[in-house]
Formats: sequence, structure tokens, C-alpha cells
Amino acid sequence: MNRRNFLRNLTATGLTGGACAALLVGEGEEGETSAEAGLRPPGAVDEEEFLSRCIRCFRCGDACPNRAIVALNEVNGADFSRLPKHGERGTPAIFPRRQACMLCVDVEADELLCTAACPTGALELVKKTSEDIQAKVKMGRARIDTNICYSYNGASCGVCVRACPFEGKALKAGFFERPILNEDWCVGCGLCERACIRYPQAISVEGLEQ
Ligand code: SF4
Ligand code: SF4
Repeated sequence: MNRRNFLRNLTATGLTGGACAALLVGEGEEGETSAEAGLRPPGAVDEEEFLSRCIRCFRCGDACPNRAIVALNEVNGADFSRLPKHGERGTPAIFPRRQACMLCVDVEADELLCTAACPTGALELVKKTSEDIQAKVKMGRARIDTNICYSYNGASCGVCVRACPFEGKALKAGFFERPILNEDWCVGCGLCERACIRYPQAISVEGLEQ
């Protein structure tokens, strides 16, 4: 399936829901002083169940063509003193500001590769269809800071809207290309945060547990 067809499929129809988990991490490689969200990969089951199933094999990370998944450790910025009770070393996470999940959009595959690689069901198998992604993927939710977003402050930007795989559904452009979020469609992939040209980012993805 080519990119255009996949994106068309992605925006065709869908349901919302699915499990998600989020971890809190501290200062990252790029020197952020504020906390940023670390998200579980797509298809992650409920966090407690995820930790009981995940054997820290990192097959999901090895399978990711976008190198979006890292194993949590001190080197990649996880601050374990601030993690919620379930956060653990060696488990997989995505930090959208460094590398976001692109939902395997350019990959010839029927399923999201990380979910197909997981041997334990910690990541539920997700087909590369709009319906399955919407039903099973909820990594987090986007948040827009209208106080600093260029499009809400006299300029026209819209970069995040164009980066969204569900453009026109999860993010649509308003006046001056102001991003307008529909949480029902947002799966928390982080491509908007990754694309935002404002620093600190005017749009970011936070985990549902934050
Ligand atoms: S869905 Fe694809 S791009 Fe996203 S984390 Fe999984 S393997 Fe990587
Ligand atoms: S492939 Fe599955 S079991 Fe292995 S680290 Fe990733 S989530 Fe955990």
C-alpha cells in the first residue's frame, strides 16, 4: 500500500479507544529542563498488564524502521526517581520530541511492525488500517499551547497540521492555519510535536496518566 492510499485509508473511518501508558522522564539529551512524556509504543495494553507481559527483549525497538522506540535507561534521559510506580528499566518507550512514531506509514506491511514483533502480547497486534489503529492505539493526547503557537499569535504556520497522519480529522487547520484538535481522532503518535518549529514546542503529546 503506498503512502497516499494509506493516508487516505487512515482518514477514512475509525473508532476510538485502546490502552495507553505514559512515563515521566527528566532532563533529556537535548537539554530540556522541563519534564517530557515518554509514551508506550502503539498497541500497548494497560500499563500494569504491560509490565507483567513485557520481557524487555526489545524486539519492538529492533523492528521499528523509524528508530522511534528506546529501552528506558538513565542514558536516554529517564529519571527513575520521578517515574510512576510502574515505570521500569529496559521497557520500551517513545519520546516524540526525539523521534516520533510514524505509524509505519512508508512501510510495506499489513501490521504495525513493532506490534507484529512483540512475542508476548504486551503490544497488541495492530493492523495498518484506520479502523484498527483508531481502536487499539492511544499512546497519549496532543496539547496545544495557544499562548506560544505562531498561528495563534499573528503568524501563519500549520506545520503540525500537515504532519498529522489524520490531517483534517485529529488536527485540522483553522484561521491562520491554527491547529484545532479533535481528541477522538488523536492517537498520540507525536508527529505534530516532532514537527513543531516553535521551541519550546507549542504542541506536545502527553500520556493519559499525566
Ligand atoms: S508503529 Fe512503526 S514507526 Fe511506530 S513505533 Fe511501531 S514500528 Fe515504529
Ligand atoms: S517486543 Fe514486546 S516483550 Fe519485547 S520489549 Fe517490546 S513490548 Fe516488551
